[in-house]
Amino acid sequence: MKDWTALASDLYRGEFRPMFIDGNWCEARSGKTLEARNPANGALLATVPEGDSADIDRAVTAARKAFEGPWSKFTPFERQALLLRIAERFEAEWETLCLSDTLDMGMPIQRTLANSRRVLGMLRFYAGQAVMIHGNTIPNSFPGEIYSSTVREPIGVVGAIIPWNAPIAGSVWKIAPAIATGCTVVLKPSEEASLTVLMIARIMQEAGLPDGVLNIVTGHGDTAGAALAAHPGVDKIVFTGSTATGQAIARAATGNLKRVSLELGGKSPVIVCKDADIDKAVPVAAMAVFANSGQICIAGSRLFVAREIHDEFLRRLADFAKGLKIGHGVAADTDIGPIISARQAERIAGYLAAGPNEGAQVVAGGAKAEGPDLAGGHYIQPTVFGNVTDQMSVAREEIFGPVISALPFDTLDEVVTRANATPYGLAAGVFSTHLGTAHKLANRLKAGSVWVNMYHAIDPAVPFGGVKMSGYGREGGMEHMEEYLDTKAIWINAD
Ligand code: NAD
Repeated sequence: MKDWTALASDLYRGEFRPMFIDGNWCEARSGKTLEARNPANGALLATVPEGDSADIDRAVTAARKAFEGPWSKFTPFERQALLLRIAERFEAEWETLCLSDTLDMGMPIQRTLANSRRVLGMLRFYAGQAVMIHGNTIPNSFPGEIYSSTVREPIGVVGAIIPWNAPIAGSVWKIAPAIATGCTVVLKPSEEASLTVLMIARIMQEAGLPDGVLNIVTGHGDTAGAALAAHPGVDKIVFTGSTATGQAIARAATGNLKRVSLELGGKSPVIVCKDADIDKAVPVAAMAVFANSGQICIAGSRLFVAREIHDEFLRRLADFAKGLKIGHGVAADTDIGPIISARQAERIAGYLAAGPNEGAQVVAGGAKAEGPDLAGGHYIQPTVFGNVTDQMSVAREEIFGPVISALPFDTLDEVVTRANATPYGLAAGVFSTHLGTAHKLANRLKAGSVWVNMYHAIDPAVPFGGVKMSGYGREGGMEHMEEYLDTKAIWINAD
């Protein structure tokens, strides 16, 4: 087994890591910097530029120049070849990328490593899509020799803004379709986790990505992010993050009516029916929230359990939660890594207090995790609340931490109504061994993805996104390509 801790000590040593604009590695115009700290122990990993509107401006200018320059002459087959080369480089550097991510945002290394199928799959899927873009020849109502057809064109300069909880997959899912379609990108990573995204830019540059096609501006959301969302030179914003920020971005984007796709927050229901296979359902329902310490948009944080099996299910869920190992992400046996920041840990701790105050029963966890090995970091025990009612804050609000709120139910009609009674609609889970029940629930739940007897399946070939206040637009699948393309109609009078 690899000694990740030893490897980690060589990766970042507190040095300055520049951002990436027009193929150049540069400082912020202001000269200001941000600290990148390891959430596992608070150690300084590196500093990065604190970019602002001036840096966004030069990145957008570079992206526009590239969009209109030689990049526009790349054939679909050349863009495909580029994506395949990038995939090869990713495969070769996969462990380093994962280690960087674990250090920068805390995800246990075993989990980041396991994402390779998805991330390498994304690059290869969009390589395939690059050569499939085509328009139609359309019969029309005009008399005579008048021909009409469509061509698909890249939308232009894409502004991408991502959160900190999955920097590798989050950035590749924004960049790969842009390369496939011939767009250019200005990407602002989260101020909490920029380092791996900068590494990704370096890998893409080495694989032959032309200057200006990808630009990374590190910085804060309310300065660099807001400037990108409002910039008149940006044609499309693709955003992943909280619903409140998504609303601000949608408002900022109205200035030049840029197109917007939003992947936002959730409060996803998981329904365990009385005929569920409990042995299989317990670990999956637990990790539907506890994976990445609950810092997952699709966390199945409202757990509806049929009353007939409720007590037994909660007992087994509590045993499972108590058996999870909390620790640094670089330790190979860690199940639950740190929370990204003190601010986020305090927010979660607020819900740990609110649950019992509002009448919930602590079945497992319920407090911050502390100990000599955890010093300097921010850790929360995997927590299960029982006796939860639909009105409690822990049942209504996105916690973004390792907290499950369990609610009993009696009938399928009742649970569908309760599960759908949320402003969000990102994902849902169903556990049932009855085919009809599984189908009925999957059809009636209002969510962008429904998983039956499984959870968390996200694939480059399958569309992913939300309904209601979980956003609009899709990533993955052929639907994703549409987000980066415009349709032009061409008419020809041949008479
Ligand atoms: P956040 O909304 O605070 O920040 C996300 C990004 O937006 C960051 O890069 C931030 O700097 C930037 N930002 C902040 N304010 C901005 C503004 N005014 N204008 C432009 N950009 C701004 O979210 P977070 O705390 O980093 O991430 C957690 C949230 O993300 C949760 O709500 C989670 O559900 C959501 N999320 C959704 C998905 C999904 O696919 N639906 C995936 C991961 C995370």
